[in-house]
Amino acid sequence: MSIANIEHHIGGRPAANTSGRTQDVTNPASGRVTGKVALGSAEDVNAAVAAAQAAFPAWADTPPIRRARVMFKFLELLNQHRDELAHLITAEHGKVFTDAQGEVTRGIDIVEFACGIPQLLKGDYTEQVSTGIDNWTLRQPLGVVAGITPFNFPVMVPMWMFPVAIAAGNCFILKPSPTDPSPSLLMAELLKKAGLPDGVFNVVQGDKVAVDALLEHPDVKAISFVGSTPIANYIYETGARHGKRVQALGGAKNHMVVMPDADIDQTVDALIGSGYGSAGERCMAISVAVLVGDAADKVLPKLVERAKTLKVLHGENLAAEMGPIVTRAAHQRITGYIEQGVKEGAQLLVDGRGFDANTAGAGCGDGFWMGGTLFDHVTPEMRIYKEEIFGPVLSCVRVHDLAEAVDLINAHEFGNGVSCFTRDGNVAREFSRRIQVGMVGINVPIPVPMAWHGFGGWKRSLFGDMHAYGEEGVRFYTKQKSVMQRWPESIGKGAEFAMPTAH
Ligand code: NAD
Repeated sequence: MSIANIEHHIGGRPAANTSGRTQDVTNPASGRVTGKVALGSAEDVNAAVAAAQAAFPAWADTPPIRRARVMFKFLELLNQHRDELAHLITAEHGKVFTDAQGEVTRGIDIVEFACGIPQLLKGDYTEQVSTGIDNWTLRQPLGVVAGITPFNFPVMVPMWMFPVAIAAGNCFILKPSPTDPSPSLLMAELLKKAGLPDGVFNVVQGDKVAVDALLEHPDVKAISFVGSTPIANYIYETGARHGKRVQALGGAKNHMVVMPDADIDQTVDALIGSGYGSAGERCMAISVAVLVGDAADKVLPKLVERAKTLKVLHGENLAAEMGPIVTRAAHQRITGYIEQGVKEGAQLLVDGRGFDANTAGAGCGDGFWMGGTLFDHVTPEMRIYKEEIFGPVLSCVRVHDLAEAVDLINAHEFGNGVSCFTRDGNVAREFSRRIQVGMVGINVPIPVPMAWHGFGGWKRSLFGDMHAYGEEGVRFYTKQKSVMQRWPESIGKGAEFAMPTAH
């Protein structure tokens, strides 16, 4: 089998790596190395920034409706290549093909949103703020901006960023995760085919070296980051120190509160899908079920049954509900957490360790496989409760009432997503109002906001002021300018020395 060389895309064409460093890209289902991805140097970053900087003046001057037409063409191409992108995701990430298709579709949503950029960039205007004077505000692009993205959504998360940034008139550098880098190059190819001028979208593959070069480069005006909390924190502080606008989305520990009046079958379906879908490697995955009162007795028997019979299969098998874990290192980390949970006294109801990889399909014997794991009687002091496991491990915590559930969740350091299953309108209302979490679902397990609403957590799940995409995204990628204008005919005589006021 041939090993692909996965390199950069700079100034509208493939660009060779100058660092001499590479990292293996592995198919997690088979454990086989399928590619070598470049780990870019500061020189590679400099070349990308120079290409983007050169393209910026003409792109920023391009009328928004013409920028939108490029987005419309890109949208058409994405729809044509949706499955190709999804197969690339499954090959390098491992998630099941239908889930990968869903990921691409949620990315396409943002491109559809970005097609409306002429409307989104419209400013405000006040006639006659003072006699003979009008005042308006407009939003202008920042210049060269960069996106640093995680392994778990190699198409959707970059598309939270670049469609809005580019449509708003910026030039973009994407630094994808080296774990699953191939989709980034197909997206670059499609943007070029859509008529995007060379240099407006660039990809630099790499690791910390490329990230640091972006953080320190004086011509990079803004950084969007999505990944784990320690790195998000580092990106936010370092970017700010270098004078950049930064939004850095971090890790999560998402709870689902199950009230005793919840529909039990719907709740079990929701917990299974949101806990084990994509092998729990979603920043909006549910990793803690908070079972209120006697909800535990109703939910757990069915949950155990379903967790034991999860269809853990090769992602290309359309019957698969869950695929492999992304890397061997992640597999070891998750296994370590399961051992830790047992040591700390949680009750292990379903153990995903020891899963027979050969049952996942032909050629899966050396892949990174495990089944779903379910713990009961997890308590807030345990590491498996406090830390992000990022794997197919669901922890159940038992509480007496809604107030205890809300206090538990509000005390957690993360605040990305949360969900409450109930039939009681007042419970739903009180829960949504009092919970200290950025994205709330009522009978919705994974409440990822649609393209025009914006995505972002609270507390240590997001560093920065603005959420990703939606109107917050447009604001992030533009700066506001206010223009005040009058004409000689309306100017009175004499210099004014007092603070001007409306007259
Ligand atoms: P990660 O933090 O390891 O990597 C994210 C990006 O940062 C990658 O591009 C990586 O190359 C780069 N990076 C890694 N180490 C670095 C370092 N020391 N210095 C500079 N850059 C570095 O995250 P991951 O494992 O790829 O993704 C999983 C994490 O992302 C989870 O914590 C998950 O919750 C989080 N995530 C959050 C959201 C959200 O919206 N809040 C969405 C998706 C994923």
